[in-house]
Amino acid sequence: MIKNNFIVAHSNNFRERVGQIKYIIIHCSIKSPLEILNQINDLGLSAHYIIGRDGTIIETLAPEKVAYHAGVSSWKASSDISLNEYSIGIELEAPTLGQYKDDYTDIQIDKLCELLEYLTLEYNIEKHNILGHSDIAPARKPDPGVCFPWQKLYDIGFGIGCTNTDELSDCRDEITLLETIGYDISNLSAARYSFCRHFFINEIKIYDDIQYLVDNPYPVDFKPNDFDGYMKKLRNVAKNLV
Ligand SMILES: [Zn+2]
Repeated sequence: MIKNNFIVAHSNNFRERVGQIKYIIIHCSIKSPLEILNQINDLGLSAHYIIGRDGTIIETLAPEKVAYHAGVSSWKASSDISLNEYSIGIELEAPTLGQYKDDYTDIQIDKLCELLEYLTLEYNIEKHNILGHSDIAPARKPDPGVCFPWQKLYDIGFGIGCTNTDELSDCRDEITLLETIGYDISNLSAARYSFCRHFFINEIKIYDDIQYLVDNPYPVDFKPNDFDGYMKKLRNVAKNLV
């Protein structure tokens, strides 16, 4: 159904896909959809879809092609240097890089959810394998930002998340929990911060200087102030994994 609603503007930056699509990666950019398209084209990069704040969806590559959106990335100790081969990339327009609540509009998120419904069905992608760029590249990327509505997505079945119950994993080891969820823990500060950006947002600092945020996606030597609360969240998310 949604397929007829795409504006098609194909990118030249792609290769044929050999691997199986396993993940959907959410990105954001402060630019308008057309500017995003031009910018990533110029950089030799690409995504599969761009969704504007007005809900317009642009398909820039068919999912059968590999787009260059993830860069150096990993999840669940994946062996390749990048998840590009195994993922679909979606860019969202977000003027403060997802740092403020009204960055994402309701219509934009509704359209994203329709697209996720379509893609997960069409390409047989597990619904929990919907992740943020910051999840798979914690030391490099801050998008889609602390105000991306992960909980709203989780409540309708997409992504990984927390529940309001007190059900916790029996594991109490931070590293094991982060790894179990999927994070690359080779840089522990970055992995911690990335987890907090997704699940424990009180710990995240907001920057008006977007370039500073891009250049410094996590604080060096980061440790959550509320470490007990953070551990509880970790154990809750780990418990809820499919
Ligand atoms: Zn990104």
